[in-house]
Amino acid sequence: MMKKVLAAGIMCLVFMSPMFAGGRSEGPAADRTDGPVDIVATTGMIGDIVSNVVGERGSVFVLMDDEIDPHLFRPTRSDIARMQRADIIFYNGLNLEGQMADTLVQLARGRPVYAVTELFDETTLLEDEEDEDYFDPHLWMDVSLWMRAVENVVAAMSEHDPPGADDYRSNADLYLRELAELDEYAREVIASIPSERRYLVTAHDAFQYLGRAYGLEVIGVQGISTESEAGLEDINSLVNFIVQNRITAVFAETTVADRALMAVIEGAAAQGHEVVIGGELFSDAMGPAGSWEGTYIGMIDHNVTTIARTLGGSPPPRGFRGRLSP
Ligand SMILES: [Zn+2]
Repeated sequence: MMKKVLAAGIMCLVFMSPMFAGGRSEGPAADRTDGPVDIVATTGMIGDIVSNVVGERGSVFVLMDDEIDPHLFRPTRSDIARMQRADIIFYNGLNLEGQMADTLVQLARGRPVYAVTELFDETTLLEDEEDEDYFDPHLWMDVSLWMRAVENVVAAMSEHDPPGADDYRSNADLYLRELAELDEYAREVIASIPSERRYLVTAHDAFQYLGRAYGLEVIGVQGISTESEAGLEDINSLVNFIVQNRITAVFAETTVADRALMAVIEGAAAQGHEVVIGGELFSDAMGPAGSWEGTYIGMIDHNVTTIARTLGGSPPPRGFRGRLSP
């Protein structure tokens, strides 16, 4: 318990300091008020919020691309240099960027550094079931919860750049309207899955928020963070669960190795039960830049549409905005 309070305290300090220091921070970034605001976001999902909110007033550099697992990501020297040049930095928090904590604390001495999950009501967050010291950081999987992260970005940007506040608000309102429709879409397509088939088995435990928001029982082979590997015992109990509940499909993830998932499939086969990989989901990173799946909306569209299609639901063949491959 102690650890969580402590971690939350540090992040709170990091988040709050620019808000209560009267806006502009001191240091190398403080003079750069002409031209677009230079912003660094750790993950693509955060970068998507920020670029939608800032529009023409800022440029956004995303630190982790579509192949990167944020639980394991360690910034290189050039990543740190890039962040030192930024006017403002956004990260997820809740220990998602577990290897970056020290770097973020140091960077916060020279410029505003914000966790987009900061000031969230703790009762809306899920515990990490394997480590009670932390909350589950994967909250972008619940669109309505992620919409609060948008509000945090608007507040932070308006504090940093008050003349842009009206633009940030109206840009955010457009984006939030899209997200509200996406949330509705996700709820509908998941509800179209027959109730006895609403089990989502994935490589690591990134989908608990999705399950809670839209009505799926979620089981990850690995825990919340990919830092620890699944043991034989975890795999055996999952195999038994799959056989008992007649689960026929499990889902791979783009940023996590399939090794443990393959062991589960083989274990089920040894008991005479056939399970297939029902598709690949985007868990901790979006798809390639420039693609529909390389946006937050496209990522969630891909995930919920693939899950619904595989588990016997009836989603539209091309998804939320007609942009997925059928
Ligand atoms: Zn994860």
